[in-house]
Amino acid sequence: MKVSSLPDLLVDQLKDLFSAESQLVKALPKIAKRVTSAALKEAIQEHLAETKNQVSRLEQIAEILDCKVSGKKCKAMEGLLKEGDEIIQSATDDQVLDAGIVAAAQRVEHYEMAAYGSARTMAEGLGHNDVVQLLQETLEEEKAADQKLTTIVEEEIYPSITNENSNDSENGEEVDEDEEEPVMSGKQQSSRNRR
Ligand code: ZN
Ligand code: FE
Ligand code: FE
Ligand code: FE
Repeated sequence: MKVSSLPDLLVDQLKDLFSAESQLVKALPKIAKRVTSAALKEAIQEHLAETKNQVSRLEQIAEILDCKVSGKKCKAMEGLLKEGDEIIQSATDDQVLDAGIVAAAQRVEHYEMAAYGSARTMAEGLGHNDVVQLLQETLEEEKAADQKLTTIVEEEIYPSITNENSNDSENGEEVDEDEEEPVMSGKQQSSRNRR
């Protein structure tokens, strides 16, 4: 199909997003089933609910713009989901699987952030402020989903590996959970030691 005007290009982008989100609505329940971390499972299920609402927003936008958003396939999302599937097939350890799924999911979120960001800018340029609002809401959800995934890797997946290792050695030092351990310069380090 030819895309010969900027309004047509926005519709084309919306179709791509509609396909991407629809593929995710199908895939996320299967992915949630495979992960072992309860926090990760919950995050995926929460984002599935958000994703369904994101599909509805795109349908709302289609009504506002009086266009169709179906009829296109987002090949990038197809590829990203294939990569996620590869990890599921190849991981032989639960934590490896969880961390690998997060990495795949973050690629998905970043793709969506890029796509919603450009679509929002296009809608802004065309003066469709109601559409801008809806796209922005979804963009914020994608950003929050990405950040949540980072937190889960940091707090759930890698700490559990560290704890297992220190339990094995039995002489691991107590880690004060409240004490942040930033990378410090020598000067800051020595003034800290004097305290
Ligand atoms: Zn896409
Ligand atoms: Fe989404
Ligand atoms: Fe695409
Ligand atoms: Fe998302």
